[in-house]
Amino acid sequence: MTLETSIEFLKGIGPERAKFIKNVLGISTVEDLLTFYPLRYIDKSKIYNIGDLAEEPEADIQLKGKITEIQEISYGNGKNRMSAKFRDQTGTLELVWFRYSKWMKEQIPLNREIFIFGKVSLFNGIFSMAHPEIETDEKKALSGSLLPIYPGSEKLAKRGINNKFFQTVLSEITLNLPSLMQENMPDSLIKSLKLIGRIPAFYHIHFPKDFHHFEHANRRLKFEEAFFFQLGYGLKKQYQKISVIGNPFPKIGENFNKFYSHNLPFELTNAQKRVLKEIRTDMKKPIQMNRLLQGDVGSGKTMVALLAMLIAMDNGFQSCMMAPTEILAQQHFNSIRELLVNTDINVRLLTGSTKTAERKIIHAELLSGELSILVGTHAVLEDIVQFKNLGLAIIDEQHRFGVAQRAKLWAKNKIPPHILVMTATPIPRTLAMSFYSDLDVSVIDEMPVGRKPIITAHRREKDRLSVFRFAKDEIEKGRQIYFVYPLIEESETLDYKNLMENFDHIVAFFEGKNVTMLHGRMKPAEKEAAMSYFASGKAEIMVATTVIEVGVNVPNASVMIIESAERFGLSQLHQLRGRVGRGAEQSFCILMTSDKLSTESRTRIKTMTETNDGFKISEVDMQLRGPGDILGTQQSGVVDFKKLDLTADGKIIKASKAAVDHLLKKDPHLQNPENAGLKNYYLKLYKGKNKWSRIS
Ligand code: ADP
Ligand code: MG
Repeated sequence: MTLETSIEFLKGIGPERAKFIKNVLGISTVEDLLTFYPLRYIDKSKIYNIGDLAEEPEADIQLKGKITEIQEISYGNGKNRMSAKFRDQTGTLELVWFRYSKWMKEQIPLNREIFIFGKVSLFNGIFSMAHPEIETDEKKALSGSLLPIYPGSEKLAKRGINNKFFQTVLSEITLNLPSLMQENMPDSLIKSLKLIGRIPAFYHIHFPKDFHHFEHANRRLKFEEAFFFQLGYGLKKQYQKISVIGNPFPKIGENFNKFYSHNLPFELTNAQKRVLKEIRTDMKKPIQMNRLLQGDVGSGKTMVALLAMLIAMDNGFQSCMMAPTEILAQQHFNSIRELLVNTDINVRLLTGSTKTAERKIIHAELLSGELSILVGTHAVLEDIVQFKNLGLAIIDEQHRFGVAQRAKLWAKNKIPPHILVMTATPIPRTLAMSFYSDLDVSVIDEMPVGRKPIITAHRREKDRLSVFRFAKDEIEKGRQIYFVYPLIEESETLDYKNLMENFDHIVAFFEGKNVTMLHGRMKPAEKEAAMSYFASGKAEIMVATTVIEVGVNVPNASVMIIESAERFGLSQLHQLRGRVGRGAEQSFCILMTSDKLSTESRTRIKTMTETNDGFKISEVDMQLRGPGDILGTQQSGVVDFKKLDLTADGKIIKASKAAVDHLLKKDPHLQNPENAGLKNYYLKLYKGKNKWSRIS
């Protein structure tokens, strides 16, 4: 038997069943079976006291005591139930049988010391156990170890592939473990992290002697998964660092210094200073920077980006900044131009709707080097857009651009430009640590001073009048309001609020106020006009779909009313809320929902009303949706772990990353004999995938 052996050759399986198992469970080899981990374990080694039960225990448990009375209850419609009282020295519990026979009833031992085993439930303050297993033999009851319970289904059970089946085949396989596998981590690592060996880990994950053994096995297997995943990224990053040269920016010069001492409109936050330093340190080196800048909405990423671009300029290089939508690009362009108003730095905007005449100027100035900063949309990526010497490319809102597009930017210069990716969607740290392992991560974790936290409230349809009145009052105080709706006429079958209809309601209620509208079906020029109508203060109210989600900056807008808020995801709600709270005034976010909410919707709304912290929100989001969904479907395979749980195993992920960093520092090409086992395992794991790895 080897790990690759087909399960058809295992005792009692055969080709028919092997095929069936493969189809249903995707298991075809011995190795697949070994990593078919138990869902949970039942513990017969321990006897619980009824008096110690505080709440429903997770797993099935065993109790020792006596059945003191039995009675049958008839419901009259032919259905009966049998119940019994079970006592130990600490309390009483009820036993229930919904299905039973006369014979069964007679077999139940009364007033005799017995063991019962099963799932305890709490109902109306009374503990009960339905259909308990009853054992009179003490030896059999206390069988010692934990019994694994494997994932299964009725379909499988019908073909005899039940829990007993898995227990039997796995007990055979685990007996052969020493000849099946070798340790894949060096001794020193195992010792320093107090891990157990690979073989005992696989044994005890299936047949743990007790929970202590289970926990050690579990930790080892999780660590192993995290470790080899990190090693993949670590080697890739190392390869990039060796092979991808970049233009060093050693200087801080006139452009940066002049701006920093004369034009900076505010003091940078400590977090902004810190990340700027991290960026500077990267760009000083003759290696391409690949950095992710994470910062919550409103944390001031634009300023950091601008300062980085000024450093590029001081070193004789051009920069470009790319945003996912035209509106956003326009806004970046406006705010950068405004910040640079007292300088002679040449900045231009290139989007799909840039006029031909302007395009010609841009193309010429990019080639001659006259243009220092280009702001734009995807239009920047077109082949016709050529730079004299592009040194820094900044991508705002990372998740909307694909990796292929990032690569296009690389090709814009002989020596690829430094890359700074900015995202306002905080992703959980564990996810950042694993998924973005090939990017270095900087985090702005502090808001500019003087911001008043946004007050968030949950309201329902019956509160609509008071919500509208509140909005009216805020407008009277000089503020502006957003109304956001989930969709526009996308699907008639869904009962989404219809934007047009609501637009009319709002116009009617807020008589005398100017209402403008923004949605995805408008042409860029129309959007632009609507946006500037609102941004300039001419319109007090903006009715919009999620088009405004990203980046829009109108500091005087202080109320965000989100309609059908239960239809939005958490990160989207957080993004939308970030459109207010940008000025000095107290801002509000009102989440309007229907009366009935699913548990998940309720959790989302509650999270929003409880915190403004984007990182906390992203943690909850990951718990609700799972890491794959957060990253988007095409990337979910990346986080397809068997044991590792990105939501809960932050500590292990961190430790594995540290271990990989340490390992690669000491032995970058895995040549040390101590690491031979690790290298072999790694090469097998990533067979054909490690194009970037120098190890072989
Ligand atoms: P985001 O990180 O969401 O892109 P922005 O860069 O748009 O945030 O900044 C949000 C607002 O905060 C802008 O109006 C900007 O001028 C302001 N801002 C940025 N940094 C600071 C700071 N250190 N002190 C005060 N205001 C700041
Ligand atoms: Mg921004």
